[in-house]
Amino acid sequence: MARSLQKNNAHFRRALAKLPLGVSSNFRYWGDAKTLYVKTSRGPRIWDLDDNEYIDYRLGYGPVILGHRHPEVDAAAREGQEVGTVFAMSTEREAIVAELISEMVEAAELVRFSNSGTEAVMAALRIARGATGRDGYVIFEGSYHGLFDAVMWQANVEEMDDPDGEPEVLPFGYGVPGIAKQLLRHVPYNDANHLEDVLKREADQLAAVLIEPILGSCCGIPSTPEFIKAVRELCTRYGVLMIVDEVKTGFRVARGGAQQMYGVKADICTVAKAMANGYPIAAIGGREDLMRHCRPGGVTHGGTYTAGGMPLAAAERCLRILRDTDALDRVHAYGGRMQAGMSRILNARGIPHSYAGHPSMSGLFFRDTPPRNYRDWKRSDYTFYDTLAQFLIENGVMCEPDSREPWFVSAAHDEACLATTLHVFEDGVDWTIRTLAREGRGVHVGQEA
Ligand code: PMP
Repeated sequence: MARSLQKNNAHFRRALAKLPLGVSSNFRYWGDAKTLYVKTSRGPRIWDLDDNEYIDYRLGYGPVILGHRHPEVDAAAREGQEVGTVFAMSTEREAIVAELISEMVEAAELVRFSNSGTEAVMAALRIARGATGRDGYVIFEGSYHGLFDAVMWQANVEEMDDPDGEPEVLPFGYGVPGIAKQLLRHVPYNDANHLEDVLKREADQLAAVLIEPILGSCCGIPSTPEFIKAVRELCTRYGVLMIVDEVKTGFRVARGGAQQMYGVKADICTVAKAMANGYPIAAIGGREDLMRHCRPGGVTHGGTYTAGGMPLAAAERCLRILRDTDALDRVHAYGGRMQAGMSRILNARGIPHSYAGHPSMSGLFFRDTPPRNYRDWKRSDYTFYDTLAQFLIENGVMCEPDSREPWFVSAAHDEACLATTLHVFEDGVDWTIRTLAREGRGVHVGQEA
């Protein structure tokens, strides 16, 4: 039976009167008739206002690593309320959680907290600039580092004349001042030679190279092990700081994040999402000599809500669970089994496909090899994924509607979820083949767009 969205649609009309697009983040608007509102959640599942049930593979863009409304984390958050909210003073727990982060993430010799990934990356960049006295920085095409001017830039790959040339760098929407672009160098991902050219020319003006170890908002395209090691080596050689943005990968792809997985150590790193199962807290960790720049007369860092009682207590419990239990092993095993199950279905139909990223946050592609960088992805045909995703969502498997966000797995996803997911996936693949054939588009898989 087709899903009813009557209550969601009615609420959308009400919300639209007071909220631009009826939502609190542009990315939550999925069209006037398709924007959903969550009524409740538990573990791996969410329900919308019409009581449609979904197995959730978006997990709020990754934070909900233990599943929604995790009883222990929520109890800890309530306990945090016993201390209070904010005081413009510190509380005891900050040092305790900093010790935990430091123990789990090698690069985090010292730690400061923020409220969101955006704020953490802003602070990391400021510390790098404060420590080096330089303003420029490098980011990679296809990266996402949050919603602040310095990082809201994208490569205009579609309109490049020479596919290997330099794309125009455009802001993510209006309101980002053009002048901010002057400080930024934009480099293709997984291209160490290109990075070296930039560092050779301009290292004396660059504070940092800011890198996502896995492009968490570009289909989970991973850095190759050689590339991320080369970035480390080049940063050291040219005296530029390496900031590893682990807002999505931290405490998810390994207890020590992607840095542990790849065996690299940042000068400064950021962690956020999986650290508190969805409560608003993030952290900057880094080398002691760099982090000690945070002081009066040095680098300014702080904020009214920083390290509030509730998110901090949630973080402590969540991190202890991730450190001391098999939660991450289960996340990884589930992700691997889901990929294997999907491959069985696709192989049986001769559909070329591949996965990018890590089983706990992976992108699904309809060609033999996953894209290696943003340009590669932009030039690929994602019609099959986009069509399939519509079916999956309508039938209770909540993946990202476009192929840019990876599928996130939580420790609450279980056998029942896997069976339902694969069943719906199988029906969805057949439906997609039929739909594209009917529309005369055939199954455009594995081809360049
Ligand atoms: N960095 C990365 C790697 C991210 O994935 C995100 C969010 N998707 C951010 C920074 C920004 O975090 P937030 O949305 O919490 O501000």
